[in-house]
Amino acid sequence: MSSTPTTAPTDTEIALRPAEMHLYKPAEPATAVVTKTEICTAGKKAAGYVRHIEFDVSGTNLVGRAIPGQSIGVLAPGVDAMGKPHKLRLYSLASPTGGEDGQGRILSTTVKRTIDEHWDTHKLFLGVCSNYLCDLQVGDKVQLTGPSGKKFVLPQAAEQHDYLFFATGTGIAPFRGMVMDLLASKANCRVTLVMGTPYATDLLYHEQFTRLAAAHSNFRYLPAISRERNAGPQGPAQHGKLYVQDRLKTDAEELLPLLRSSRTLIYICGIAGMEMGIFQQIATLLSGSDLEQYIRTDAATMEKRANWERSMLHKDIKLSKRIFMEVYA
Ligand SMILES: Cc1cc2nc3c(=O)[nH]c(=O)nc-3n(C[C@H](O)[C@H](O)[C@H](O)COP(=O)(O)OP(=O)(O)OC[C@H]3O[C@@H](n4cnc5c(N)ncnc54)[C@H](O)[C@@H]3O)c2cc1C
Repeated sequence: MSSTPTTAPTDTEIALRPAEMHLYKPAEPATAVVTKTEICTAGKKAAGYVRHIEFDVSGTNLVGRAIPGQSIGVLAPGVDAMGKPHKLRLYSLASPTGGEDGQGRILSTTVKRTIDEHWDTHKLFLGVCSNYLCDLQVGDKVQLTGPSGKKFVLPQAAEQHDYLFFATGTGIAPFRGMVMDLLASKANCRVTLVMGTPYATDLLYHEQFTRLAAAHSNFRYLPAISRERNAGPQGPAQHGKLYVQDRLKTDAEELLPLLRSSRTLIYICGIAGMEMGIFQQIATLLSGSDLEQYIRTDAATMEKRANWERSMLHKDIKLSKRIFMEVYA
């Protein structure tokens, strides 16, 4: 069997929105004030605790200078097991460019409490920073750094593209801001958001996205529920349990032309590993130049695509510059 060389797809760099970086560092953080904190899961009985938290950054250089796709650093008070101040943890901005207030003064993020049984002691394990953030009350002060990240933002000429956003869990945060920006700009682009969670109760900002989809014909919101059959919001009952990549099949009539279009950009954010299922599905559904718009690999790797792993990325599986990824453990 002949094999194509695994050279990177010859695609052009996409100019991204300029993003300011590291206006505040851990040694001299900005002080912000919590203005809102609320559960943002769809149901009260969600498996995890996830909060939408807003901060007033008035009086700091962060005002109007942090854009969707960037993260802020949060410094939890106290010291770690070595007696050193806690290291900063990153949280993606959930707010649009103008902030929650339209003036760039109120930034927001989406935080999931890290709660588990300790691997070694089997006592309760509480993540330091996520629980600190979720415990904060309106009026409390918080130390922020950043913004950081400039490779997961929207393109400068945003109106020249269509968008396929894939999120799992709190990976939804950057897409909330991006969707709000794109829809507010009235740019003539198609925006599809696929949001994956185990149960329908875990969907984040579900009401807001449902409302936006009803109000904007160019915005599609497609939940994918992986552990629940016939979950209400995920669409027709015959779909059954869905992972985010399955939406490319269930909604192929709409999403295949989108994938084949040279305008489309794919953004993926959430749990590390989610990207492989998406790439496998794209490699199954597309071929030839359609596929090479996103992925290039050789015939042998292609044949074994059911076993693709993250370690193969950039070596055996080359991604084009039309795929943007931010995944974390
Ligand atoms: C670019 C980026 C953006 C991010 N955006 C977001 C976001 O928008 N929202 C969000 O919620 N998170 C986000 N995160 C993750 C976030 O930064 C933190 O990693 C997360 O909140 C956990 O931090 P923590 O301080 O609560 O937990 P930590 O105290 O740091 O505990 C987690 C660490 O403890 C260890 N650990 C985990 N489970 C156990 C266990 N059962 N027993 C023993 N040890 C364990 C692991 O080594 C793990 O790294 C992002 C990360 C990155 C890199």
